[in-house]
Amino acid sequence: MRKKTQLIHGGIPTDPQTGAVSVPIYQVSTYKQEGVGGHKGFEYSRTGNPTRHALEELIKDLEGGKAGFAFGSGMAAVTAVMMMFNSGDHVILTDDVYGGTYRVMNKVLNRIGIESTFVDTSNLASIEKEIKENTKAIYIETPTNPLLKITDIEGASKIAKEHGLLTIVDNTFSTPYWQNPIELGADIVLHSATKYLGGHSDVVAGLVVVNSDELAEELHFVQNSTGGVLGPQDSWLLIRGIKTLGIRMEEHEKNTKKIVEFLLEHPKVQKVYYPGLEEHPNYEIGKKQVRGFGGMVSFDVGSEENADRLLNSTKYFTLAESLGAVESLISVPARMTHASIPADRRKELGITDGLVRISVGLEDAEDLIEDIDCALKA
Ligand SMILES: *Cc1c(COP(=O)(O)O)cnc(C)c1O
Repeated sequence: MRKKTQLIHGGIPTDPQTGAVSVPIYQVSTYKQEGVGGHKGFEYSRTGNPTRHALEELIKDLEGGKAGFAFGSGMAAVTAVMMMFNSGDHVILTDDVYGGTYRVMNKVLNRIGIESTFVDTSNLASIEKEIKENTKAIYIETPTNPLLKITDIEGASKIAKEHGLLTIVDNTFSTPYWQNPIELGADIVLHSATKYLGGHSDVVAGLVVVNSDELAEELHFVQNSTGGVLGPQDSWLLIRGIKTLGIRMEEHEKNTKKIVEFLLEHPKVQKVYYPGLEEHPNYEIGKKQVRGFGGMVSFDVGSEENADRLLNSTKYFTLAESLGAVESLISVPARMTHASIPADRRKELGITDGLVRISVGLEDAEDLIEDIDCALKA
């Protein structure tokens, strides 16, 4: 099955009971047992729910893993994966990870003794230097947010295997349509499904896929024990969103390429970050491991004032957190998504006050370009 077909026919695409071509929303908490323990695979909806199960099978197929898991948010997914570790374990993470991931490692999981070190994983040698006795995993986000740095998943997984570590990849930006970390050697892939997978700014969700039965058993134990599961209604919305992921990703990228060309020529734009540009420092690795470069672009307009003028003047780019939806969104990472990262750390990473991030939607590219053009003149 090719990717676009798999988006529609993967997992459990129909209802086995009735033949309904859309999986029904099983709005139910518990299931009748024929005698104690005699059930049809479902006993209580925290443990398992048929609509959520259909979604979990779908994401498992899309990522080519052994089992899928759906959570109430991307952060619940990240946290559940980290809860597979013990107090005293150490994890190495990409330095410009999603702000919420940085926060949960540094302000929540540190309290229960899970240690973390943040390094530039796009430089493989810097990963190896940080491996300690108690290191258990390498956690990669690629491409990163908002600077769109790319880590060589195959290379990082190789280092991880040599040292007996797990490789975990946050695949939110590329989605399984364009990047399949498990094929490149990763053990665990996770998503904020709130973004491209859902695609319509109407659901908050997280997904995880693991590549072994052992990890599947452990993660199901954590999911069922801690309980941050996705409800049936939201599971259904995600299944519906995923059906059109392929055509959406293709169009996001077409629009983005046109906008990037426009930004590169614009005198008020100092720097453009897009992994599909040949001058992007990780372009070659990107070309090797992704099938498309996506709809996220960051660019520097020089100062906080210029950034504010731009985002107060756009008509079609809505000022909002989040990304990956049909609507184009604009944000300033330093004061929004990455505000939870300390200022000096942001500076180190290159997340300047004039850095603007856009998530290119599915509007007409000409309208989007005119919109930015007018706003830059404001
Ligand atoms: C949004 C996001 C998250 C967190 O997901 P939520 O659904 O907002 O909890 C994690 N990683 C990346 C890359 C994200 O963009």
